[in-house]
Amino acid sequence: MNHKQALEHPIFKIISQSANALNVEAYVIGGFVRDFILNRDNAKDIDVVAVGDGIQLAKQVAKNLPNKPKVQIFKTYGTAMLRLNDMEIEFVGARKESYTEDSRNPAVENGTLEDDQNRRDFTINALALSLNPSNFGDLLDPFNGIQDLESKIIKTPLDPDITYSDDPLRMLRAIRFATQLGFKIEDKSLKAITKNSHRIKIITNERIVTELNKILESPKPSIGFLLLEKTGLLQYILPELTALKGIDEVEGQRHKDNFYHTLEVVDNIAKHTDNLWLRWAALLHDIGKAPTKKFSKKVGWTFHGHEFEGSKMVYRLFKRLKMPLNDKMKFVQKMVLMSSRPIILAQDIVTDSAVRRLVFDAGDYVDDLMTLCEADITTKNPRKFKKYHNNFKIVREKIIEVEERDHVRNFQPPISGEDIMKTFGLKPSREIGIIKESIKEAILEGDIPNEYDAAYQLMLKEGKRLGLKVTN
Ligand code: ATP
Ligand code: MG
Repeated sequence: MNHKQALEHPIFKIISQSANALNVEAYVIGGFVRDFILNRDNAKDIDVVAVGDGIQLAKQVAKNLPNKPKVQIFKTYGTAMLRLNDMEIEFVGARKESYTEDSRNPAVENGTLEDDQNRRDFTINALALSLNPSNFGDLLDPFNGIQDLESKIIKTPLDPDITYSDDPLRMLRAIRFATQLGFKIEDKSLKAITKNSHRIKIITNERIVTELNKILESPKPSIGFLLLEKTGLLQYILPELTALKGIDEVEGQRHKDNFYHTLEVVDNIAKHTDNLWLRWAALLHDIGKAPTKKFSKKVGWTFHGHEFEGSKMVYRLFKRLKMPLNDKMKFVQKMVLMSSRPIILAQDIVTDSAVRRLVFDAGDYVDDLMTLCEADITTKNPRKFKKYHNNFKIVREKIIEVEERDHVRNFQPPISGEDIMKTFGLKPSREIGIIKESIKEAILEGDIPNEYDAAYQLMLKEGKRLGLKVTN
C-alpha cells in the first residue's frame, strides 16, 4: 500500500533528501501515520526514525530548510527535535531495547527498522511510512496494524505480559487510546494489564496525570475510567473514586452507586464543555460521599457535609498527583464545594433571592456551576428529569435577569467601610462590620436594590439601632 498523500507537505521531501545524502533510511512512524489513516487531525507531531544517527539527520534537515531552524538535542534519549511553523518534528535513531525490573527506561542499542517497530507499544502505533526515494510513501506494517485500525482494536506487537511489565505506562496508554479512539482492548492485553496493574507504582505522577487528562478530554471519558477500574489500576491512581463503588442496603434502604453515577456525570458534562478542569470537577464532585456516608433509621442514607469534605480531598488529591495547586485547583474545589447548591434550588420554587445568593457565592463560576449541576441530573425518572432541567432553565434565565438588575456577580458593596466610619465618626470597629453585613443581606434578600441611596438609608437606620450618632 502506498500513502503518498500523507506526505504531501514539502518537509517530507526535504527529510527524504537529507537522509539520502547521509546514506541512511528514514521513516515517519507512530501517531502521525495512525491518525492520517484514521482521518484524525493530528498532523502537528511528526516522529521520524532513522536507521542510523537520528540527531545527525535532524541537523541535516535543519540545514536544508530555508529558515534554518534550531535543533533541540536530547542527548540522554538520543533524540532531536525541530520546529517548522506549528509542526514539531522529532528524530530518533532506530533502536533495540531491553528492560530491567525496576525501571521503565530500557538499555538501548542501535537497531533495524524492525527492531524499532518491535519496541512500539501497539500494532496501530508501529505503522511506518517510507521516506526513502526508492519506495517513498510505502507503508510498512509488520504487525497488521491496518487491520487493527479497521477492527478498532488495541493490541501489542509482542507478548502483552512483557510489553506492559517492561513499561507500565503502556497500560495507561492502552486505556487512553481505547477512550480517545473508541477502540476495544484485546482480551489478552486486558488480562495482562490486570495482572501487571501493581507495576503502575513505578510511573511518575506527572505521566499518570497526562494520561488521565487525555482520558478526561475524550468524547466519552467513562470508557477509560471503567477500564481503569476493571483492570485494578484505578485503586492505585484514584482510590477516592473506587471508594464510591457499591450500593449498601440497610433495612431495605439503598443508596445509588456513586461511582457509576459519577461516570455518567462526566460523560454528560463532556457533551457540554471542553474545559478540562470542569471535567475534573465532575469527576471529583462526589468524592466526599465515601467518608461522610451514614445510615440512620430516621432518615436513611445521608452524606452530610460531603461537599466540604470533598473540596478538602481535592487539595490532597492534587497534591499527591503533583497537579498544579493554583487557581485551577481552587476552581475544582469551589465547584465541588458548591455542587449541591443549584440542585436544592431546582427542587423547589426558584426565588430571586436564592438566585442572587447563588450568583453572589459562585461569582464568575456560576455558569460552570450550572453546567456541572445539569450534568449531575442522572435520574432515570423521566418526570423528575424534565422537572429538574426545566427548573435549571428557569435558574439560568433568572441568573441573567438578576445579574442585569442587581450586579451581585462580583459584589462591591454600595456603601464602603470608609463611608460608614465618616458618617458616624467611627474608628475601625465591630459596628462597621455589622452595618456592612446587614446591607449585603438586604441586597441579597431583595429588601433593597443594590444602589447607593437605598443602602445609605439602611445604614442610617442600622446606625440608629446600634445607638450611633450621625456626625457628618
Ligand atoms: P499522541 O501524540 O496522540 O499522544 P502518539 O501515538 O503519537 O499519540 P506519542 O507519545 O507522541 O504518542 O509517541 C509517539 C510514538 O512513540 C507512538 O505512536 C509509539 O509508536 C511510540 N511510543 C510512545 N510511547 C511509547 C511507550 N511507552 N512504549 C512504546 N512505544 C511508545
Ligand atoms: Mg504524538
